[in-house]
Amino acid sequence: MFENDEEFDERFISSSKIEEDEAVENVLRPKTMADYVGQKQVKDNLMVYIKAAKKRGEALDHCLLYGPPGLGKTTLASVIANELDVQIKITSGPAIEKPSDLVALLTNLNANDVLFIDEIHRLNHNVEEILYPAMEDFALDFMIGKGPSARSMRINLPKFTLIGATTKAGTLASPLRDRFGVLCRLELYSPEELATIARRSANILNINIDEASANEIAKRSRGTPRIINRLLKRVRDFAEVLGSGEITLDITKLALKKMDIDDLGLDLVDRRLLLTMIDKFHGKAVGLDTLSAATGEEAGTIEDVYEPYLLQLGFISRTPRGRIPLDPAYKHLGRIYTEE
Ligand code: ADP
Repeated sequence: MFENDEEFDERFISSSKIEEDEAVENVLRPKTMADYVGQKQVKDNLMVYIKAAKKRGEALDHCLLYGPPGLGKTTLASVIANELDVQIKITSGPAIEKPSDLVALLTNLNANDVLFIDEIHRLNHNVEEILYPAMEDFALDFMIGKGPSARSMRINLPKFTLIGATTKAGTLASPLRDRFGVLCRLELYSPEELATIARRSANILNINIDEASANEIAKRSRGTPRIINRLLKRVRDFAEVLGSGEITLDITKLALKKMDIDDLGLDLVDRRLLLTMIDKFHGKAVGLDTLSAATGEEAGTIEDVYEPYLLQLGFISRTPRGRIPLDPAYKHLGRIYTEE
């Protein structure tokens, strides 16, 4: 069915966005906090800050949302704007190429609006410099003219809320990180939460799915809403072509097997990563770049997409000397663990 592993990875497990997701994602995105499943502590705290800001008639403090891809950062930013009753403008770090792009965005905001910058760790330095006074003083500083007659000019901006999203809070320049008043770390979702998301999405997309199947897909979605929505659609395809259209446990298991997704949701890349650590490096600590070279996967993808789930399963640990595969990974892959 699939020509090679790469094609498979791209279509099924990768929790980064692929084209097909875009259209469906907008339909499936929860609009309110009540609809947004899981992340209880983050939601509860945000609701307090949102209510307080609304009560004072002020803009919400700038918020930084961080966590692996597909966990709902973009969705949460829209939910926040919706709960604040303000408009949201959505952009991303790489899309803001020049300072003037950012100036255009900022000067078009209304008071208390939200500006959402996805992948904020990828902003270029010149743009970041403009962002600092904009975040702190709601102003833009310009130099006009050159030489001795040069003078600085300041343009005041409406008070706004910047919501930044990143998979790597650690790589954000500290002057940028320090300007966020609210830091929210999104966690991987539990299977119960994912099953709720599967039922909700099935409902919106008019898919018939029984309880056991929703639970089965949830168990294999690596804690990630984007993945469960994608698997749900693919299992539906199998149900429509091979069954009556209804998603049953038999069809679900068959579809997941055909997609090479195992009982824990691990795919070919996860297994390749683990087997490389176990067989090739004999369970000794291996650095990210070495692992990347040995498997052909990008270091950033290993770190952002694959590792969070393997860490959560207790399959690997990160040590100062590198990554180490742990006993449960050996058991899962039928290898024998020998402690040195
Ligand atoms: P991120 O910005 O972190 O990469 P997104 O916000 O784009 O992730 O979320 C991906 C998809 O997962 C969304 O389309 C949405 O349907 C779904 N989703 C994310 N978080 C939740 C949630 N808490 N409840 C329900 N669905 C969610």
